[in-house]
Amino acid sequence: MKLINRIFFTALMVMCFSIPMAYSADHHGEAKTYRQTQLTDTIFLLQGKGGNIALIKGEQGLILIDTDYKEMSAALEKVLQQHGGLDDVTYVINTHWHGDHTQGNEVLGHHAQIIAHDNVRSRLLTQQEVKMFGMVSEAYPEHAVPSITYNKRLNIHLNGEHLEIGHFANGHTDGDSIVFMKKANIVHMGDHFFSGFYPFVDVDSGGSVVQMANNVETVLSMIDDETVVIPGHGSLSEKSDLEDFHEMLVATTDEVKTMMAAGMTLKQMQEEGLSLDWEEWANGFLSTDLWIQIIVDSLNKHAQ
Ligand SMILES: [Zn+2]
Repeated sequence: MKLINRIFFTALMVMCFSIPMAYSADHHGEAKTYRQTQLTDTIFLLQGKGGNIALIKGEQGLILIDTDYKEMSAALEKVLQQHGGLDDVTYVINTHWHGDHTQGNEVLGHHAQIIAHDNVRSRLLTQQEVKMFGMVSEAYPEHAVPSITYNKRLNIHLNGEHLEIGHFANGHTDGDSIVFMKKANIVHMGDHFFSGFYPFVDVDSGGSVVQMANNVETVLSMIDDETVVIPGHGSLSEKSDLEDFHEMLVATTDEVKTMMAAGMTLKQMQEEGLSLDWEEWANGFLSTDLWIQIIVDSLNKHAQ
């Protein structure tokens, strides 16, 4: 059974994204509600303003993957009431530290244990900065920081589902988790996947476009054509969409490598641009100029 209604979501998410909206806290008039999509009897996709949330429910409580912006917490609480309410939330998983995936911890951390990679805890305990967007994130209070951390892999067996949480190093940041729901054959990619548009890669937080492509390739070898793929941002997807994303990562990186090898400056590369094949990837979130800059930053970092 196909669970995906792609057209529906693509239109919505493309309209919703711009650079400041995705990373700044609160300055626009979007309705603060969630679009809810049922994926299986027990698993739901919740799409608000920030990163996509997965909800897994059952007799042993609710599990949430990511918690969106703080300003969405009231709406999140409301949608969770349909599934038992905040007090039923047993675990929260943060796919990485960025505020559009973790600010909701401030409310949820009073009710649930928060799980993430070791580096998410250490980053959230201190002030963080995303220079590209001029964004500063202050240290989170203790209750909003992950209390259970892991280094390579963590399994959770709850509600008849088997969650395999894997650390995929230095892709989007240095603390990314990708969550495989083994029984349902669903994967939550965190920000290792922006479906249909150039992704933000946080080079200052240890991310790299090159490693992101490698990590996505690993995930592609672990899933099949029936796998439902939840991107960090964008519409519900399937394996072929992730393959397209991987192809874009590799090909645009190669184009930038060629320009760098020819001795072009960043400005010259941005003036030259990328091949028209990738034009539509600039329509959702990052401009081609910023994407070239992120690739250059990633390649320079690798060369060090
Ligand atoms: Zn992110």
